[in-house]
Formats: sequence, C-alpha cells, structure tokens
Amino acid sequence: MRSYSCVCGNIAFFENTHCLACDEDLGWCPGCSRLSTLLPEQDGMFRCGNKHCNVLLAKCHNYAHEAVCNRCYIVSADESPARFCDYCRFNDTIPDLTVPGNREMWGRLEAAKRRLLYTLDLLRLPYGRLEDGIEPALTFDFKADTTQKPKWWWSMGKEERVYTGHAHGKITINVREADTVEREKARVLFQEAHRTVIGHFRHEIAHYYWQMLVQDVSEQECKAVFGDHENPSYADAQQKYYKDGPTAQWQKNYVSAYATMHPWEDFAETFATYLDMVSVLDTARHMGVDENCDPLTAALPMMVRRYAELGVVFNEMNRSMGLTDLVPEIFGPPIVTKLQYVNDLVRTAARPE
Ligand SMILES: [Zn+2]
Ligand SMILES: [Zn+2]
Ligand SMILES: [Zn+2]
Ligand SMILES: [Zn+2]
Repeated sequence: MRSYSCVCGNIAFFENTHCLACDEDLGWCPGCSRLSTLLPEQDGMFRCGNKHCNVLLAKCHNYAHEAVCNRCYIVSADESPARFCDYCRFNDTIPDLTVPGNREMWGRLEAAKRRLLYTLDLLRLPYGRLEDGIEPALTFDFKADTTQKPKWWWSMGKEERVYTGHAHGKITINVREADTVEREKARVLFQEAHRTVIGHFRHEIAHYYWQMLVQDVSEQECKAVFGDHENPSYADAQQKYYKDGPTAQWQKNYVSAYATMHPWEDFAETFATYLDMVSVLDTARHMGVDENCDPLTAALPMMVRRYAELGVVFNEMNRSMGLTDLVPEIFGPPIVTKLQYVNDLVRTAARPE
C-alpha cells in the first residue's frame, strides 16, 4: 500500500475520509486511482483534487449514507446518482443494522475488503459480477448469527449459524470475525499465529481463484503440488482434522496447521500467504523500506528472501511493542514450491496492462 497526499500537502492514507489539517473530505477516485481530496461542487458532488485528473465524482452510497466506505464513482450524464462504488457493488448482503454493534463491525469488514480488492487490482487479477462476464461471479454476504429469542410462536426454531466460507463465487463472512475479542479468543483456541479480518478475505478469495483458475483447467498440475483434492473427500478430511488435529511437524510442509486438513485448504492458506507477502512487499516498496523488490515482477525466490529479511526486522519491531510477529512463517523448500505455483498461477491470470 502507498500513502497519498491531500491538496494541502498533508499525508493521506488509504482508509482516510477526512483531512485533519485542512478539513476537506478525502475519497478514492477511480479516475486517477488514488485517494484524493474531494473538492465540493453543486448537488453534493465533488471534483477530484488531483489537478491532472479533475473528474466529477460522487460518494458511494455506503460512504455518503452509511459511513463504511471511502470510495467515489465518476459521475457521467447517463448514470443515475446515489449508487455504489466499484467495490461496494459486490455486496449481496449486509448485516442487520438495527442490531447494536453491527454497523461498526460491517465497517471493519468493508475496510478489509477494500484492502483485498486493492491487492487484486494491483496484481491485475480478474474478478467481477455476472454482468462483467466473469465466472464465477464474485459476491459478498456479511451476516451475523441470528440467535434472538423468537417474538412469535410461528417464527420459533429459526436460528441461523453463519459460516465464513466460499461457495461458487459468494464469499460469506460472519461479522463476529470483526469483533476483536471474539476473534482473539478463536485465535488462541485454534492456536493460530494470526487471525485477522483481512486474512479471512485473503483465504476465501483463494477458494474463488481455485474455482476460476484451477477447476477443470489445471487440476492435475495443482494435485502435483498440493496433493489429491479428490481423495480423501473434503468431508472425510475435515472430520479427521477435527478429530486428530494437524499432522506432526506440519511447519516443514505447510504455512499453517489448518492447511494440513485438505489440499483445498492448503491451496487457500498458501494463496492467502502469497497475498500477505505481496501486500507487505508492496508497502515496503512504497514506504521506502525496500524499493528494489517489486512484487509484481520480482522472481519468487527473491520475494521470499526479502519477505523473510523484512520479517526478521519487523518481528523484532513488533516484539518491542509486545505485538505478535508480523511474519510468523518460515518458508522451507516444500512451501516455496507451493508459493511458486501460486505465483505462476497469478501472473498467468493477470490482465494485460
Ligand atoms: Zn488537507
Ligand atoms: Zn482523480
Ligand atoms: Zn463503496
Ligand atoms: Zn477454506
């Protein structure tokens, strides 16, 4: 991630909605692909503050009315106003905003979703809705468990547990994952090095890309790297994992304990780790920490080496502050082979510039 600047010269970050120095609104401009100052125009519209861009913008509905987005769309004559931005248009379901706390948690999910899609755009990976002609069509459901006592006898017995996961392009995230206390409890329970909202998005989008790029396309190549995803079945593997736990010494061959469950989860965990690495290297590049390693073009072994070197530094930084390690994994040769597969898959799928 890079940082941006307001027309007043103040630094602006990807998540910002407002400049603390000059009081102007900030928002993502799709015209120049940057976080820009929003200079007020008539009828609630704005002009992009980037003088080389200057397009007419309107705030996304989820920015203007729900305060969970900070993106804009370009206003053109043939478009009706008050619509969603390029990222919010993927939402199919949002949580019940009459439930206290849901709006705040939804906002955290949206922030993580924007980071995810930013990285996918950076890698020029394809994704889209049905009308974009991309299959599977990507959609998001952000939902909470419903456990309230029923008000009326005829509505009794309907309790829905929401499972975070992916099915045919739909990514469902339980809003509880945005509850810091609940998530940390789960992290400790499952002995995970990290459990983050962005991590969930990166894991689930990996299943999306397995379906788009591997299924019926290159399953044999994938099997050669991750093992046979058809045998044992997913259900059998899942049952065994929750009964027996991860295989011993999993750290040599897998990026996480969960990856040992089934080749699909190994693929997803490895793909998510690849996105972690790309994101960290991209940030390091734009923050002047390491300008030489471009995660879009560097060879995978170089990326792995620089990620490990940055890990040594930033793990110690984090430990200085009592935080968990930034880079908890050590990538042995079997893991590098899997990352190389993901790297090749991603770069082959990238849209031309
Ligand atoms: Zn400013
Ligand atoms: Zn612009
Ligand atoms: Zn939006
Ligand atoms: Zn999964």
